Amino acid sequence: MSTQTTGESISLASLTSLGVGGHAGRFVCVTDRTSLQVEVRQARAQNSRIYLLGGGSNLVVADEGVNGTVVQVAIKGQTILEETAEGIRIRVNAGEVWDDFVAHAVNNQWAGVECMSGIPGWVGAAPIQNIGAYGQEVASVIEQVEVLDLNTGRFENYSNSECQFSYRSSAFKKNKATPKAVVSVTFKLKKKNEGLVQYRDLQADFASSGQAPELQHVRDAVLRIRGNKSMLLEDKDPNGQSAGSFFTNPILDEEGRTQLLQKTEGAPPIYPYGDRYKTSAAWLIEQAGFEKGFALGAAALSSKHTLAITNQGNASSAEIVHLAKVIQAKVWDRWQILLIPEPQFWGFDPHPLMEQAP
Ligand SMILES: Cc1cc2nc3c(=O)[nH]c(=O)nc-3n(C[C@H](O)[C@H](O)[C@H](O)COP(=O)(O)OP(=O)(O)OC[C@H]3O[C@@H](n4cnc5c(N)ncnc54)[C@H](O)[C@@H]3O)c2cc1C
Repeated sequence: MSTQTTGESISLASLTSLGVGGHAGRFVCVTDRTSLQVEVRQARAQNSRIYLLGGGSNLVVADEGVNGTVVQVAIKGQTILEETAEGIRIRVNAGEVWDDFVAHAVNNQWAGVECMSGIPGWVGAAPIQNIGAYGQEVASVIEQVEVLDLNTGRFENYSNSECQFSYRSSAFKKNKATPKAVVSVTFKLKKKNEGLVQYRDLQADFASSGQAPELQHVRDAVLRIRGNKSMLLEDKDPNGQSAGSFFTNPILDEEGRTQLLQKTEGAPPIYPYGDRYKTSAAWLIEQAGFEKGFALGAAALSSKHTLAITNQGNASSAEIVHLAKVIQAKVWDRWQILLIPEPQFWGFDPHPLMEQAP
């Protein structure tokens, strides 16, 4: 059993890609299942609220920090459960780096995750918001998620349908009353050295090649496109301190779609999404008058991607939230569309961007 790090006073800014936020009441980094169970039991016995941490790339932490126990689930390792001529079932523990797993899959010519190359973070967080990019979502390759129920202290398995995956969401993200720590994820991947080229940026990349690109080609293209948009975590990148896309793309019903069309000159980007429609948050932000690089204090939109709010060095969490609120209010004024933040917020009560329409 091992609990790697325990600190009474650790800066959460240093553990998150956005680089803002105060201290954790208590911080533990667990590297095996038993330690996780023990730490959770101890925190519950002390009535300490538990915050689960992975790589910290989808978090906005308040300047005041959090008054509770932050448990980083750093359980490493992976096991091949089954291998046939067609495919593979592999169980990957929560603390593995997501992109290392993708690189491993692509190297072995296992298809299904290549378009999600370069997404920061760890495997344990991947099901939480059903990560996705360039035409793929992790929900399409997840067979099972193993969790520790923080209320009962027992391990449970969730089948794909029990996870209730939807666009950037899951049962784990929605059901705050029954929090679960993801311990491992079982993926089902196909043995096929042919990458998915569905998204228009990728289609443009491969238009002239005339043949189906291999997995490695798709991974290389995705990494290049992401790099050009500062959507990889790179130390030297001036847009490098961010939580990725700050808002999700709005899903509209028929009335919302009509309103958007009526209040816009020209053709707004609207795509069918099940029985509803999806529009582009980046487009709305730009049309509302915010250019790439727009800054308020040390918080700024990325100079390469309108959807990412960045910390330009020494931003406070309050500055990040202020910029997000200004953007949210302007988009609301123009279209009555509420931009929903994608990252999780810790230490704010109430949620600064979700309590009411601006
Ligand atoms: C530059 C950049 C680009 C990005 N691009 C994309 C993208 O293309 N697509 C996309 O979907 N996302 C993207 N993201 C967001 C982010 O990478 C993903 O959401 C990722 O899955 C977060 O992983 P993490 O380990 O860093 O999670 P953290 O930030 O540590 O945590 C995120 C949430 O998951 C919970 N959590 C973490 N680990 C566990 C666990 N073991 N059990 C239960 N809950 C847990 C946390 O409590 C929190 O609610 C991007 C982020 C950045 C910074």
